[in-house]
Amino acid sequence: MMDCQLTLPTILRRAESLFAKKEIISRLPDKSIHRYTYRDFAARTKKLAVALQQLGIAEGDRVATLSWNHYQHLEAYFAVPCIGAVVHPLNLRFSPDELRFVVNHAEDKILIVDQVLLPLFEKFKSSVSVSRVIVIPQTDEPIPEGYLNYEDVLAAGDESEFQPFEGDENTAAFMCYTSGTTGKPKGLLYSHRSIMLHAISLMLTCAGVGITERDVALPIVPMFHAGAWGLPYNCAFTGATQVFPGPYLDAESLLELFESEKVTFTGGVPTVLMSILNKLDADPQHYKLYLRTMALGGSAMPRFLVKSFDERYGIQVLHTWGMTEMSPLGTTAVITSDLENASKEDQYDHATRQGFPVPFVELRGRNELGLIPWDGSAVGELEVRGPWVAASYYGDADPGEKFTPDGWLQTGDIVSISEDGCIEIKDRSKDVIKSGGEWISSVALENALMGHPSVLEAAVISIPDDKWMERPFAYVVPREGKVVSADELREFLAGTFAKFWLPEGFAFIDAIPRTSVGKFLKSALRDRYHRENG
Ligand code: AMP
Repeated sequence: MMDCQLTLPTILRRAESLFAKKEIISRLPDKSIHRYTYRDFAARTKKLAVALQQLGIAEGDRVATLSWNHYQHLEAYFAVPCIGAVVHPLNLRFSPDELRFVVNHAEDKILIVDQVLLPLFEKFKSSVSVSRVIVIPQTDEPIPEGYLNYEDVLAAGDESEFQPFEGDENTAAFMCYTSGTTGKPKGLLYSHRSIMLHAISLMLTCAGVGITERDVALPIVPMFHAGAWGLPYNCAFTGATQVFPGPYLDAESLLELFESEKVTFTGGVPTVLMSILNKLDADPQHYKLYLRTMALGGSAMPRFLVKSFDERYGIQVLHTWGMTEMSPLGTTAVITSDLENASKEDQYDHATRQGFPVPFVELRGRNELGLIPWDGSAVGELEVRGPWVAASYYGDADPGEKFTPDGWLQTGDIVSISEDGCIEIKDRSKDVIKSGGEWISSVALENALMGHPSVLEAAVISIPDDKWMERPFAYVVPREGKVVSADELREFLAGTFAKFWLPEGFAFIDAIPRTSVGKFLKSALRDRYHRENG
């Protein structure tokens, strides 16, 4: 067979030649809608690539982006790796101090920044040493002195001089940092090869998320979070229409775009999908939707979400699990043939599990006794391997206990694995509650609580206990206008769980604190508990 390197220019060529007329649509910071075709996109991407070389970017150099999801960000996603350099989207929800750390740690040479995000850049600008700052113009204000205008830079690039990267497929193409809740962010380098293989996995209907040329895909997940789950590369590969929401991630703005652009596929974390459901429920006839699938990932699937979207709107919520360390897709809870004729309720139960590994990903679980049996009840830490799973962290980050001696990634997720290989995440290892030696799943309790009609959100943490060592404690956010008591919730849970699983206490709060990528920040809740309870 031919020794064809799996490199990103292949996707660019395919998008340009096969999908020239298909569209890429963006909502810009001024709320206007920008639309152009893959043909326009490819031409501008090549100009940007050449222009970056003229500015001194060579193979291996890092080019950072500080941008929302929009077409110019997509251009950088391709232009940078297509000349052998490394694109590094910065998490714009990081603190200025974290941003300073990652830009210096990655040794970013050039920064491409949204004009509307310049105030954020100004906060860490003096402590980083990027050689050029290119600003994407987005307002009527002039670009401040000392910065380059993205459109001027691009105009200076001559498309005919574009020389696509033809090197080794294992060359780094993309960089991102984990958004962990403790310690410094850790860097990861995705290679051309890993991105290409991952992009293919997203196409697989049987096991991936099944995006095709007919889809109109809108990544709600930010392009700075695990490469928007690989969707931009995948969509360019398949020719799916891409819709980018810009900075407007509220339910109303998203629903408007879903309707106006006839979006068929989207992906986001549970909190965003919950806000979309709430908005829809407030006036179910208001929007005409074309969505077939909403991929959910990043945190566990609340059961009511999959049930409500299916029953009320005929939309499948597909549960996926992954990690930044795995590009990020690991598993999907697809409905297999033996579940096809199962009752809806059984299918919803299945959908709340994290699902089966996608092709190329292998998994196993381990506890203190060794590898756990695939019996659906033994629990242990999930370990994974595959061609898009990181083998190490970038630079000097301490790998800690993240990798086994035989090279599997230790995920920190505590799971059971069914006989047929379906995983169910019970907890993060650091959130596990061990009460009197018995293990309690905070995820299961949260999921059940969020199924109560008066509860908007719930997070369960472990608190110290003299007798039982640890006990569960629930923080609950009631729905607007609803009142609910601890006794009511305890009674509600008692129908499902053993007595010792019932939370020791409940506290009612306005909002659950979140990480930079929208997950529950349980460490902040633990701190709060200790502050308030000594
Ligand atoms: P990140 O690297 O920010 O994507 O975070 C990865 C972690 O998010 C995983 O190790 C899990 O703990 C959690 N996670 C991702 N997807 C899911 C899911 N579907 N259910 C439960 N936890 C998830």
